[in-house]
Amino acid sequence: MQEQDPSAKPRMVRCPACGGDSVYAPSNRWRPFCSERCKNLDLGAWASESFRVPEQAPPEDQPFGDPKER
Ligand SMILES: [Zn+2]
Repeated sequence: MQEQDPSAKPRMVRCPACGGDSVYAPSNRWRPFCSERCKNLDLGAWASESFRVPEQAPPEDQPFGDPKER
């Protein structure tokens, strides 16, 4: 069973920083953010708010929010 469908659309998530569409795929190096700017914005907010965020990346296969809940 292969999941290499060339017509498969990339998973879209909501950018946590600006709320815009963001491509959640390896091609987007800033995922789940839509851009480097948004990623930096979010990191800056974290740093100024509290420093208790663990240095642990979320699992790659975990979608940002459940699309079924929409
Ligand atoms: Zn963004």
